[in-house]
Amino acid sequence: MDLRPHLIAERHGVRHEILVGDITKLAVDVIVNAPNTSLLGGGGVDGAIHRAAGPELLEECRRLGGCPTGSAKMTKGYRLPAKWVIHTVGPVWRGGTHGEERLLAGCYRTCLDLALRSGIRSVAFPSISTGAYRFPVERASRIAVEVIRAHLDQNPLPESVLVVCFDAATYETYARLLQET
Ligand code: ADP
Repeated sequence: MDLRPHLIAERHGVRHEILVGDITKLAVDVIVNAPNTSLLGGGGVDGAIHRAAGPELLEECRRLGGCPTGSAKMTKGYRLPAKWVIHTVGPVWRGGTHGEERLLAGCYRTCLDLALRSGIRSVAFPSISTGAYRFPVERASRIAVEVIRAHLDQNPLPESVLVVCFDAATYETYARLLQET
């Protein structure tokens, strides 16, 4: 399999890419987390981020009082190489008739707006909602790429946006979409 980064968009010579890897290892300004509404710890990418960041992250999350689906809140990155973490709660897939697509688009939009307002230069997203929350990867990847491209077209920050796929199937779905569009 070809695991090279694929281009989402290019602006001012900066490539916005999709790649395979572990988001907790990236030394970017912000990594995005996909926790549940309590923000009090879970499995998947949330578990990995909390393990890598250390217990101070959970302490800060406890003070945030949860987060509604589609919204986002920012904390420090603690022991992560990333300086900050934006926690955004993706929708649970319930067949597609419960506003899931709108809510997922809201996650990406809210994170990018928050990054813009906070002067953040580089952001890495996981594939939000496509793990335990069962959002179909193909639909989710279209939404992610559409919202990221629209934001990059209209705003100066973040300068760099990555989507980090943890498994080959997710990466291949993104790569196929990016070859078509
Ligand atoms: P959700 O509940 O939003 O579906 P999950 O954490 O279950 O969140 O899954 C979201 C995506 O994050 C899945 O594609 C999963 O494989 C991926 N993931 C899990 N661990 C990591 C990691 N360390 N880095 C990047 N992506 C990860």
